[in-house]
Amino acid sequence: MLPRVRHIGRDTLRQWSLAESILGSRRVPSQTVWSRDQSTTVTTPPKTIFSGIQPTGVPHLGNYLGALRQWVTLQSEAAKDTTLVYSLVDLHAITVQQDPKQLQQWKKESLAMLLAIGLDPNKSTIFHQSDIPAHAELMWILSCQASTGYLGRMTQWKDKTANEKDSSKKLKLGLLSYPVLQAADVLVHRATHVPVGHDQAQHLEFARELANGFNHTFGGDVLIPPETLISPARRVMSLKDPMAKMSKSHPNPNSRILLTDSEETIRRKIKAAVTDSMDGITYDPEGRPGVSNLIDILYHSDAHPAYSSQDELAKDLADLSMRELKDRVADTVETSIKHIRASYAHFLHDNDHLDSVAAQGAEKAAKSAAITMKAVKSAVGLS
Ligand code: ATP
Ligand code: MG
Repeated sequence: MLPRVRHIGRDTLRQWSLAESILGSRRVPSQTVWSRDQSTTVTTPPKTIFSGIQPTGVPHLGNYLGALRQWVTLQSEAAKDTTLVYSLVDLHAITVQQDPKQLQQWKKESLAMLLAIGLDPNKSTIFHQSDIPAHAELMWILSCQASTGYLGRMTQWKDKTANEKDSSKKLKLGLLSYPVLQAADVLVHRATHVPVGHDQAQHLEFARELANGFNHTFGGDVLIPPETLISPARRVMSLKDPMAKMSKSHPNPNSRILLTDSEETIRRKIKAAVTDSMDGITYDPEGRPGVSNLIDILYHSDAHPAYSSQDELAKDLADLSMRELKDRVADTVETSIKHIRASYAHFLHDNDHLDSVAAQGAEKAAKSAAITMKAVKSAVGLS
C-alpha cells in the first residue's frame, strides 16, 4: 500500500506547525521540540497522540503553554487520521493525599477546563483515567518488568524524597511507581507521540525503555515506544521562585496564574512577580531568572509572535521599566486566556454535558485499551 501524503496550509505554518515527527516521514529523535519552520508536504502513517493532566487544581499558565494549548493545536492541525486521546489522570492525583470531596470537584472542574480550552469530544477522546481499569492492569504487568533502581533515580522522586527524613515510612509505593502508571497510560493507547512539558521528559524516556524491554522479553512489537513532544514553552517558572517550575500543587497561590484568574488578579500576580533591581530589560535565564521568565511568558503567550526568539524580543523591550514590562506581560496574558475564562464558566455549570462527555470518552478509551490488553495478556501468557 502506498504511504499517505499529507498537506498543511500556510495558515497552519503561521500559527504553529506540527513537529516533523507528527507530519514528517524522516526518522526523528525520541524527544522533539516543536518548531515553526517545517516542511509543508509530508508522508506519514496514522499517529496517536496521548497526554494527561492531573485533576489537582485549576490548570495554570504553565500547563497551558507547556501542554494544553498544544493539545488543542493538534486537534485542529494534525492529519485527519490522527487519533487524539486526552486523560484526566486522577489515579496519579492520589499519589499524594487528597481530600475526597475536593478531588471530585477538581475532576469536574478539570473536565470543564479541557472543554473550555477548545477540546471537542467528537474529535478527541477525553476521559477520566480511573474509568478505564486497563490503565492500572497494564501498570501491574509493567511493574513486573520495571527496575526499582531506575525508578529511584527519577528526578521527581528524588525531589520529593529529599526533604523526608524517615523516608521508608512516609513515602508511599505509589509515588515511587508513578512513572510505571504513566508508562501504562501512554502504552495502553498505543500512543506514537506524547506532548508534555519538560518535567515529564524523563518519565517518557522510562516508558520507552519499558516498552522496548517488554517487546524484547516477550517478542514482537506488542508495545509502541512513544516519541516525546516538548512544547517550546517547555518550563514556565514560578512567579515567586523563578528557579522552580510553576505548579498546581505549590502552596503559594501567587506563584501561578490560573486559567480562571480575573484580569485584575492576573495584573496583581504579575506585578508582584519576583524580578531583580538591575537597570533595563535583558534576557538572561541564568543571571536574571525572574525577568527572563516574564519575557518567556510574553514570548510564548503571543499566538503570533513577531519575534524569532526571546533575545530578539528582549532587545525591543530593553528600555522599558520593570513596571512597563510587567504591564506588557499582563496585557498579553489576559488577551491570550480571557476566552478560556469565559467558556469555562459556561461548561462548569452544565453537569449533564460534562457527564455525557465523560461517558463518551470512557467508551472510546475502553475500546482503545482493550486492543492492547488482549495483545499484552496473550504475549505474557495470561490468556
Ligand atoms: P502538580 O503540581 O499537581 O504536579 P503540575 O502543575 O505539575 O501539577 P501536571 O498535571 O503534573 O501539572 O502536568 C500537566 C502537564 O503540564 C504536563 O505535560 C506537564 O509537563 C505540564 N507542565 C506542568 N507544569 C509546567 C510548567 N511550569 N511549564 C510547562 N509545562 C508544565
Ligand atoms: Mg506535575
